[in-house]
Amino acid sequence: MTELTRLDAAELGRRIASREVSSREVTAACFDRIEAVDGAVRAFLTTDRERALQAADAIDTRIAAGEKLGPLAGVPIAVKDLLCYQGLPTTASSRILEGWMPPYNSTVVERLLDAGLVILGKTNLDEFALGSSTETSAFGPTHNPWALDRIPGGSGGGSAAALASFEAPLAIGTDTGGSIRQPAAVTGTVGVKPTYGAVSRYGIIAVASSLDQAGPCARNVYDTALLHDVIVGRDPRDGTSVELSGTQAVGVADMARRADVKGLRIGVVKELGGEGYQPGVEQRFREAVQVLVQAGAEVVEVSCPHFVHSLATYYLIMPAEVSSNLSRYDGMRYGLRKGGPDATTEQVMRASRGAGFGAEAKRRIILGTYALSAGYYDAYYGSAQKMRTLIARDFAVAYEVCDVLVSPTTPTTAFKLGEKVDDPLAMYMSDLCTIPVNLAGIAAGSVPCGLSPDDGLPVGFQIIAPALQDARVYQVAAALEAALDTQRGHPLLDDAPALGEAR
Ligand code: GLN
Repeated sequence: MTELTRLDAAELGRRIASREVSSREVTAACFDRIEAVDGAVRAFLTTDRERALQAADAIDTRIAAGEKLGPLAGVPIAVKDLLCYQGLPTTASSRILEGWMPPYNSTVVERLLDAGLVILGKTNLDEFALGSSTETSAFGPTHNPWALDRIPGGSGGGSAAALASFEAPLAIGTDTGGSIRQPAAVTGTVGVKPTYGAVSRYGIIAVASSLDQAGPCARNVYDTALLHDVIVGRDPRDGTSVELSGTQAVGVADMARRADVKGLRIGVVKELGGEGYQPGVEQRFREAVQVLVQAGAEVVEVSCPHFVHSLATYYLIMPAEVSSNLSRYDGMRYGLRKGGPDATTEQVMRASRGAGFGAEAKRRIILGTYALSAGYYDAYYGSAQKMRTLIARDFAVAYEVCDVLVSPTTPTTAFKLGEKVDDPLAMYMSDLCTIPVNLAGIAAGSVPCGLSPDDGLPVGFQIIAPALQDARVYQVAAALEAALDTQRGHPLLDDAPALGEAR
């Protein structure tokens, strides 16, 4: 690994702006790294070398001409393959989109390009972002760079693994129930799910529209904050996107730099932890809370009694929206088409959907269709919506006595590939701590808080803030990061032998 691929995004941006190094050199170094290790990690589904190098050259030319660009201009980034980016296929890791090319860019991609970021390629995910391990991807799983026989989390395992293996300094993820935060936790990286509506969903393949939100991922808090500020903002093409005002409009990077939690009231959520959680995860979480106390925070315990129902609530609402959103893949409008020339519409639909969707997508479609069907709607979907309101109220009550809430991000560290694929419920439990946040539409992030003493794998610390107070997530995350040496023990830092060669 060259020195360049080890550097943080902010530092790369500074060096590129001062012409100490060119964006082309940095971009080429990332592709060399991808070539060396991605055979083992499998973070990327597609790479885009030629176009990326051209984009890097264009940035270098503008800088040489004296133009003042943003702090991340010329810095490479990996994008989850759920976001449309013209010129590359967008697959959502599904066979059903085989051969489909997006006719436009997602707003997030547009914002990246406008800010001068260089897109390296598209990263692997669970099929249609349904999963917690990337194992439901039609193109095979991604491997955790910390231990190649372990999951990198999901659904955004590719983006997290690209960061953890030093293939890219920045990545974009999406989070419907935890798909940014859980992969961040198990790969020792940082990931934030912004407040619902803060980032445009335009051009991002819809999974569960009332829960989906794209967000920034990086190896440290400040880089994540810089990327956050690039992608947020109102977009008239997404009716649910919100206008940021006041402190929100100032941006979160300033807050990430301050890293001060003196007098901040931090609530530890009683229901997110304890029995059933890996002891090493609990231990590191408690230690991190103490670190924040030493830094001057006031810690209180809070109870959110309805959280015990969040998994059940999510797995009614989420599949209901999935069944509706995935109905557009009918074998005619996009991608894969099965059935002979004489096939009827219904035969084409049956054959295409049967062949195109994997088992988990089919499971969610069936669950969702059932929850929405006449006669069951009130009992299932209707009840879940009521419980969703009660969960959001639990947060509101907790925020009367604290500024942020904290919990472990996940109940365990990275489990083994294959360990939970045949047990959907066990897989769903990975998102126990992250799901309530999506149901309430608020902001949360995961930051590393050390390695678990029982298996030596990274543990994630979740920080949850009220709607549109995303800056508080960064404030606490930065304070914790400053107090902990989060990269300690990273197997790839010494780089001997390089990961790809170790296999
Ligand atoms: N793992 C959760 C699920 O399978 C969350 C996925 C996501 O956030 N996209 O639904």
